[in-house]
Amino acid sequence: MSNGKSMMVDTSRCTACRGCQVACKQWNGLPGTKTKQTGTYQNPPDFSHETWKLVRFAEGKAENGKPYWYFFSDMCRHCLQPSCMEAMKKNEIVQDTQTGAVIYTPQTKDLVFKDVVDGCPYNIPRQDPKSKAIKKCTLCLDRLKANMIPACALSCPTGSVQFGERDEILKVVEARVAELKKTYPKAKALNADQVRVIYIVTDDAEKYHKYAES
Ligand code: SF4
Ligand code: SF4
Repeated sequence: MSNGKSMMVDTSRCTACRGCQVACKQWNGLPGTKTKQTGTYQNPPDFSHETWKLVRFAEGKAENGKPYWYFFSDMCRHCLQPSCMEAMKKNEIVQDTQTGAVIYTPQTKDLVFKDVVDGCPYNIPRQDPKSKAIKKCTLCLDRLKANMIPACALSCPTGSVQFGERDEILKVVEARVAELKKTYPKAKALNADQVRVIYIVTDDAEKYHKYAES
């Protein structure tokens, strides 16, 4: 039996073009979010029921005093054993058996939102204030069923986002981390044995985003 699908997000290759963020909105018919400049290029400032993919910008000073500016194209990790599902009452959240995609159904409106978001170590789910349904990335399951790759992976011009069979992606991740370690000793893959969407970072995970690693 197949091990399902996986995605690599190699932050060392990300230029923060936000093509993935736009492609997600476009494919899923999500409206643009009304927003304003808040002193960062991270825009909109956070996920919402209509923003499922968000390029986070982080800046600061390293121990050696040099500035860093990191990009983190954030999304649901499609966990192998999703802890958000512990908030279920019936079958409001389902896992696609072929791909492993974790899907929130419209019945998530019947769940206690706080229980769902508190159950997610990556702080992903958001609630639609009108319908009360809880929303997040679907791994583009509709595209996968039509033998297409997720819109974000298709749009990425730098090879930062790559998608495929989990066993193959795990090999790509392992090889890329080994390569990066030659220049960046702290390079690593985040929670690779627990998630389908695997991030590679070259510095401490918390410098990218508070919820980058669980
Ligand atoms: Fe659920 Fe969060 Fe894992 Fe996504 S990242 S499957 S929302 S626990
Ligand atoms: Fe980064 Fe690729 Fe997304 Fe552009 S499309 S922001 S390079 S992950």
